[in-house]
Amino acid sequence: MTVREILLLGNPLLLKPCEAVGEDELDQAQQVAQDLHDTLADFHARCGWGRGMAAPQIGVLKRMVCLQVDRPLTLLNPEFSEPSEDMQILWDDCMSFPDLLVQVRRHKRLRLTYRDLDWAVHSLHLDGAMAELLQHEVDHLEGILAVMRAVDGRAFALRSQAAHLGAAMMANPA
Ligand SMILES: [Zn+2]
Repeated sequence: MTVREILLLGNPLLLKPCEAVGEDELDQAQQVAQDLHDTLADFHARCGWGRGMAAPQIGVLKRMVCLQVDRPLTLLNPEFSEPSEDMQILWDDCMSFPDLLVQVRRHKRLRLTYRDLDWAVHSLHLDGAMAELLQHEVDHLEGILAVMRAVDGRAFALRSQAAHLGAAMMANPA
């Protein structure tokens, strides 16, 4: 088990676009996936939230995301298609700035295509919390952070003030 340091807002590595994982890199990807899952599980145990982590958050500039929703899942080279015109505005959070909440606009539904650690292709239709979560994680792979998606200058709150933000926020923590 390797719990890695989570890079925090201000670290320039979080702003760099990531490279695709190649089929010849699956051994390294397996190791990175294990570290991501360990680091995510450690964060969740300490802080009580957190469902997904992108490789650049531990300083690996590869297109990889790990999720822990119902079960552990590793996504290589995830790509979206068919984004809905319907959008939703929600309060988002991030393990790279754990004390901050940011109001962002996301597609309500889209299709996600990715490869797994056996290089098999999968395609999922996403909506609700999964659509929101994956848009956040795939943004990380482009060097885009939720703070860069803020809907306006009032779209920021400290987590300690979440009670002021209403039921919508608490229904859907990232
Ligand atoms: Zn994040």
